[in-house]
Amino acid sequence: MCACPSFSLPPAPWTTRFAPAPTGLLHLGHAANAVFVWGIARAFGGRVVLRVEDHDRIRCRPEHERALLDDLDWLGLAPDLGATAELRAGPSPYRQSDRTALYAAALARLEASGLAYPCACSRRAIRDGSPQGATELRYPGTCRARGLDPAAHPMRRVRLDPLAIAFDDLLLGSQRQLPAEECGDLLARDRDGNWTYQFAVVVDDLEQGIDVVIRGADLLPSTGRQIQLAALLGRSAPPRFLHHPLLLRPDGTKLSKANRDTGLADLRAAGWERERVLGEAACLAGLQREPAPLAPEGLAGLFL
Ligand code: GLU
Repeated sequence: MCACPSFSLPPAPWTTRFAPAPTGLLHLGHAANAVFVWGIARAFGGRVVLRVEDHDRIRCRPEHERALLDDLDWLGLAPDLGATAELRAGPSPYRQSDRTALYAAALARLEASGLAYPCACSRRAIRDGSPQGATELRYPGTCRARGLDPAAHPMRRVRLDPLAIAFDDLLLGSQRQLPAEECGDLLARDRDGNWTYQFAVVVDDLEQGIDVVIRGADLLPSTGRQIQLAALLGRSAPPRFLHHPLLLRPDGTKLSKANRDTGLADLRAAGWERERVLGEAACLAGLQREPAPLAPEGLAGLFL
């Protein structure tokens, strides 16, 4: 049984998403996220969108996308929008690399209001200009007023005013972040013309009507900046957010796509049934005390 506080969710039907990046194979950590996403959606009247987050054209591979669709089918977790068969069939509104026109249109809106500008700074220059010991790089705004020729510089940043962004995480409670101080003006498109995670995810959550975002706590620092960017793009109210604990290995390190021992395809090959995988993931995520097998239809019960 869940130790979650009672959820304050939007009136049903609301919409959430499962949004893996096909940069590697799914592992137990993804299964735990899926348990939260499908469990909460099925318990409280949500719809699940499957979104393939392949904005990173260098690291994402079609074979990883095929594998993740197979893994989801095997787990018995059917999205309400973004069916796996539809994604396998070809271009889809649920795959980021097929949505680039939307990102370009969103950026054009920001540029028309002077909220986005070309940037020519190298990562190295930003690193050298960041405070010593900072946990992440902070863009100091070097190109804000340089008036660079947009045709000569594909990189774009979005101006973030120094605002404090407050939100109530459904699990972690009240949060306050200062995106302009933490990361500075957000990168929307990089020097190779690739859309960034932050930009693509905010456009998608807005365009796809996502009202509840359920994801691992490693993405908590991204939330304030995503709320701020969404407002600049005209979103009237941000989604609700729930950040759940990440699964850790026994030595306390994060699971990764390189850990073959927790990969879903490997567990399947080793003879695990899907109920065992879901039960194990729910247990490691703290949603049940023992790794008792769980059927996909049983996930809602973890939250009721
Ligand atoms: N695509 C991201 C990942 O696989 C998840 C992004 C999100 O939930 O906002 O980690």
